[in-house]
Amino acid sequence: MSRAGEIEVIVGPMRGKKSDLLIIALEQAVIAEKRVVAFKPTRDTRTSNEIVSRKFDKKGKPKVSRRFPAIIVSTPDDMMRVIDIKHPEIVGIDEAQFLSPDFVPFIKKMSGERGIEFVIAGLDMDYLGDPFLETMPKLLAIAHRVTKTTAICYRCKSRQALFTQKIAGSTAKVEVGDLEYRAACSDCWYPYRGEAS
Ligand SMILES: [Zn+2]
Repeated sequence: MSRAGEIEVIVGPMRGKKSDLLIIALEQAVIAEKRVVAFKPTRDTRTSNEIVSRKFDKKGKPKVSRRFPAIIVSTPDDMMRVIDIKHPEIVGIDEAQFLSPDFVPFIKKMSGERGIEFVIAGLDMDYLGDPFLETMPKLLAIAHRVTKTTAICYRCKSRQALFTQKIAGSTAKVEVGDLEYRAACSDCWYPYRGEAS
């Protein structure tokens, strides 16, 4: 009977270095000679078969700072097939806010029955400051450990930015992108209502 694998969830705003923390954890697991597999949901259309973290220069241009190979999945069955082939001890997931809610009982089961350790990164809130859809709040509820990151506020430069500030684009609840978002503290954050025309 295997011990339950720990489920760690790393949340925070856009530009809160969540993917960096995830990639560092996975790189360390590789150094520790663990079997590691990383996944990302189909919904994140920004990159192909890898998790990337980005740095932004003064002009706001993104540059990749870290990368880790990842397999794109859309259903728990997709993930199950890979787990059955690769028998990972540690599973990393990035952009977990885009996973469908049926991943929550699946992850719980894989942790409990197979002892797989999960390191999961994603947004906890959407740009309106509400809990991000359904999956992320549920993953936070079943996590053994939660790391909440903060970023530098795009306006006052404090280190207390917990919110994702939308600055461009549509008012759709979910819009994938980097340039449309900043991190903001509670004093500077405001509900985005679309681009001024
Ligand atoms: Zn601020």
